[in-house]
Amino acid sequence: MIKLILFFLLIIPFSVYAQSTTENGYLEKDSITQKGFTLIYINKSESFDPAVGQKLKDTFFKVYPPMVKKYNKKSARKVTFLIDPAYDGVAATSSDRVIYNPDWFRRNPNDIDVVTHEVMHIVQAYGRTPGPWWVTEGIADYVRYEFGVANAEGNWSLPDVNEKQNYDNSYRVTARFFAWIVKNKDKKFIEKMDKAMRDHQYTDEIWVKLTGKNPADLWKEYLTNPEI
Ligand SMILES: [Zn+2]
Repeated sequence: MIKLILFFLLIIPFSVYAQSTTENGYLEKDSITQKGFTLIYINKSESFDPAVGQKLKDTFFKVYPPMVKKYNKKSARKVTFLIDPAYDGVAATSSDRVIYNPDWFRRNPNDIDVVTHEVMHIVQAYGRTPGPWWVTEGIADYVRYEFGVANAEGNWSLPDVNEKQNYDNSYRVTARFFAWIVKNKDKKFIEKMDKAMRDHQYTDEIWVKLTGKNPADLWKEYLTNPEI
């Protein structure tokens, strides 16, 4: 009996390991489904901290469903995360797949809301929108600000305004401007701008339509009282 138990203790872990490493070079491949959303998680990095990997998965299930509900109910129900040491940016999204650089998380293990920014790009699904990239990235960082689960721990916040900035600096600078617009001009500004981008209805005139001003004049007003 003891021999039999020992046999299973030895052989089962080995067979699971052998199976996982032979699958296209992945060390780990996992499929998790919760409440109608599926995350395919593929790890190609031997040194990637599993605790960080777990946080990436948990964050996906925490932020993605409410984001889909608020911004685009037709968003993908199945998303892939790939941890790839061959990728040297921070993270990038194309279609329904996000690629992460494990080295970034080794150096910044608390920057978990990279997930929140990236999965917003899946919700955005703008395709070849005529809208500018700085609006796309501004919205993704606004949504990180709105839905982020650990922004403070990740040392991430919206930066204070200064005179060197401009509305089209993108990312956090634009996100802060957007937060001010939401507070002072239209609570639904992000929903409306996001939808216009997805429907390929963005034109320069949309700014006047939604806020009463073009972005340059709106930015000037923002600088006079930038509180959010
Ligand atoms: Zn982005």
